[in-house]
Amino acid sequence: MSKFVYLFNEGNSEMKELLGGKGANLAEMTNIGLPVPFGFTISTQACNDYYEAGKKISAVVEAQILAALQQLEENTGKKLGDTANPLLVSVRSGSVFSMPGMMDTVLNLGMNDEAVKGVADLTGNARFAYDSYRRFIQMFSNVVLGIDSFYFEQFLEEVREQKGYSADPEMTAEDWQEVIAGYKQIVKKHTKNDFPQEPKEQLFLAIDAVFDSWNNQRAIVYRRLNKIPDHLGTAVNIQSMVFGNMGDDSGTGVAFTRDPSTGENILYGEYLINAQGEDVVAGIRTPQPIHVLEKDMPVVYKQFTATCELLEKHYKDMMDIEFTVERGKLYMLQCRVGKRTAQAAIRIAVEMVNEEIIDRKTALLRVDPDQLNQLLHRRIDDNHNQTQIAKGLPASPGAATGFVVFDADEAEQLGNDGKKVILVRSETTPDDIHGIVAAQAVVTSRGGMTSHAAVVARGMGKACICGCESIKIDTNAKEFTVGDTVVKYGDVITIDGSTGQVFLGEIPMIDPELSDEFKQLLDWADEARFLGVRANADTPEDASKALEFGADGIGLCRTEHMFMDPKRLPIVQEMILAETDEQRQVALDKLLPMQQGDFEGIFEAMKGHPVNVRLLDPPMHEFLPDKEELLVEVTKLQITAPDSEELKEKEKLLKKVNQLAEMNPMLGYRGCRLGMLNPEIYEMQARAICNAAVVLTEKGIPVKPEIMIPLVGHVNELKRMRELVVETAEKVKEEAGIGFEYQVGTMIEIPRAALTADKIAEEADFFSFGTNDLTQTTFGYSRDDAEGKFLQTYIEEKVLPENPFAVLDRDGVGKLVETGVKLGRQVKPNLKTGICGEHGGEKSSIEFCYEAGLNYVSCSPYRVPLARLAAAQATIRHQLAEEKETVTSK
Ligand code: ADP
Ligand code: MG
Ligand code: MG
Repeated sequence: MSKFVYLFNEGNSEMKELLGGKGANLAEMTNIGLPVPFGFTISTQACNDYYEAGKKISAVVEAQILAALQQLEENTGKKLGDTANPLLVSVRSGSVFSMPGMMDTVLNLGMNDEAVKGVADLTGNARFAYDSYRRFIQMFSNVVLGIDSFYFEQFLEEVREQKGYSADPEMTAEDWQEVIAGYKQIVKKHTKNDFPQEPKEQLFLAIDAVFDSWNNQRAIVYRRLNKIPDHLGTAVNIQSMVFGNMGDDSGTGVAFTRDPSTGENILYGEYLINAQGEDVVAGIRTPQPIHVLEKDMPVVYKQFTATCELLEKHYKDMMDIEFTVERGKLYMLQCRVGKRTAQAAIRIAVEMVNEEIIDRKTALLRVDPDQLNQLLHRRIDDNHNQTQIAKGLPASPGAATGFVVFDADEAEQLGNDGKKVILVRSETTPDDIHGIVAAQAVVTSRGGMTSHAAVVARGMGKACICGCESIKIDTNAKEFTVGDTVVKYGDVITIDGSTGQVFLGEIPMIDPELSDEFKQLLDWADEARFLGVRANADTPEDASKALEFGADGIGLCRTEHMFMDPKRLPIVQEMILAETDEQRQVALDKLLPMQQGDFEGIFEAMKGHPVNVRLLDPPMHEFLPDKEELLVEVTKLQITAPDSEELKEKEKLLKKVNQLAEMNPMLGYRGCRLGMLNPEIYEMQARAICNAAVVLTEKGIPVKPEIMIPLVGHVNELKRMRELVVETAEKVKEEAGIGFEYQVGTMIEIPRAALTADKIAEEADFFSFGTNDLTQTTFGYSRDDAEGKFLQTYIEEKVLPENPFAVLDRDGVGKLVETGVKLGRQVKPNLKTGICGEHGGEKSSIEFCYEAGLNYVSCSPYRVPLARLAAAQATIRHQLAEEKETVTSK
């Protein structure tokens, strides 16, 4: 016969699934000899059994409950419903994951008209007894019978007023008796029944209520939001009562064994003298900081600190503890691993290693990589009194203050004048890049976490809020409104990209803190990990940042961002618009020294670490003005200045824009296709990279350039582009009379490339999986369109488990990556492989990369610490799993 009910001395902390977190830890504390009021736990299995039986406690479960109750009575020497020495219990819910929405705890169950007299006689404290009874009626009626607390509070208020009291302590035993009589009438009125006097009936009603609460609306919604499975069920804990409200030698409190916000190794918590558990939560009286207990009750305090230390050593973690003191005697009522901020998580993990409580591997697994984001960006100082005006999606962390602008050009102008601006747009497109570069932060009213603005801002480490739908932008009036608030061009706002909040006015900021403990933990991560971590960086500043955050190199340097520079864009356009080869060469000759300068800066910043440079990738039209806008200008000029040079120029431009317009730019004339048809562009870029390598080599600074050809689908593309690069490089070496090492490789971002990776590997020194494009081309989704239109619905309706642009799709895209690695290494066993793209900074994708045997991941500089930790965790988790396997197979 299944066991459904466990006395506290029959369980342990490993049994969370069966006993719930609360029950398992009460059992554990009981077994290590801590003073826990005795009791028993009705298992989650009994809850499932209850639902299977059509919301009925089966005879088997009922019998086991009654047997456990009898044990509890023997253990305590008290009896439920006894008139002389009544047992009072609490009924507490508790599932595997702590869950708001579940039934609240009922205290003092077992009280009735007779038991209350027994308690009064036994304690010699009638006031206490009747107060406890009326609390029980109120709690039970609210939690189990579903009567709103308001009726009880209102009645109590009336009694107090009528007696002329200002607070509860003035109430006498007789006053409470009067309240109890009134409470009973309230119950009668609402339920048409008398308040249940029979303690066993009270008990089973309360147990039913806990089980029922597993499926109340709040709990269901919470489970859905937090992806907690419905079938887990909740356990019920029945525990004998202890009383913190028996006088000034009693009290109740909560404590963390370390400071949960800073991680400092000090006892942190608060308590109330002469109070029961719910008083602390209710906030009627202000609790005392825990260290005051040392003066109030020195003996108890000593015992409590010793218990906290013991619990920490036992669980090897920072604990969150609930306790009660009854007449100078300490009781432990709950313990669990405490929640903490990122800062505290790091400090606690590192200090516990130093204190020899845990080892380094455990410490590394204790910190959630996602939490680190909080620490790597400037954030708002919480002490401010500005009002939040809107809230959107926290798309890219960090905080910023600036003047509101609505247009990328304006952002750029003001930005170049040294003004701090925040670009507010309905959404952004590649045409807005220069504005995003110049702005402190970006806010969009449309779009999701992976919209253009979000991706670009994260890449640049800039704060960004997306999908801030309450903001209505009027670009013509140059203002936006949120409700009644109007924010005009040039007004100052502050935003926090970590929370998605938008505020009016300026708010002071706190700089990111890379604490010593943080650095220590990351050093340990580097020792533990095999997977390399590189950064995506396009400028010397980003490159330095990447190194500072511990990157092993640059995994993707995008040359087009260098082309977007406003000083260069006209020359880039000149190159695109050239009608003859000579004209084009003139423009390229102007670009060459600029690009060379860029690479010199980046190579120098990277101090000999490898730098992967991708040759030009985006479609040409991204460097030209918007077609629609141009058309408007031309039409205007045709009327106002029909014979002007300007009109001729613009018409020429429009013609070119029309020529370059594509039905599907994503699948169009871009990537290596540019180099195939206009080899002089790639030649110029290759030359700039090699010239830079020469300059640095001459200066005695080591360089490791990796030249990467994008969007290869057929080996012949790579073959030809490789020849071009090698030819150029050899020419440069010969001219300079200086040698340097370089590699030529390709991005794998088209399924065909992954599927023919063996052929492609013959021409490649390395593969870099461009998982952004590879996801687009594998799913056949255009990312910008997908996110604006159907992707959200797909995710909500669970057609897709996650957004594949955020979390790498292992089944599809992942299979292509694995295939690419396998085929490539058949030809070149030491082929270097990595990924670049958003996934390189996401923890589960990083774990996949480790499993697929990649050499490195590459992500934005700001995510490098996260990736270092995630890479270490992937390694450690697999090591631990292997150790376990060898143990079990022995
Ligand atoms: P929650 O899950 O909301 O923390 P608990 O079941 O821990 O709810 O109960 C809340 C509080 O009720 C506890 O912190 C404790 O102060 C009090 N409490 C619960 N059981 C008992 C008991 N047996 N004796 C005294 N107080 C209790
Ligand atoms: Mg609790
Ligand atoms: Mg690409």
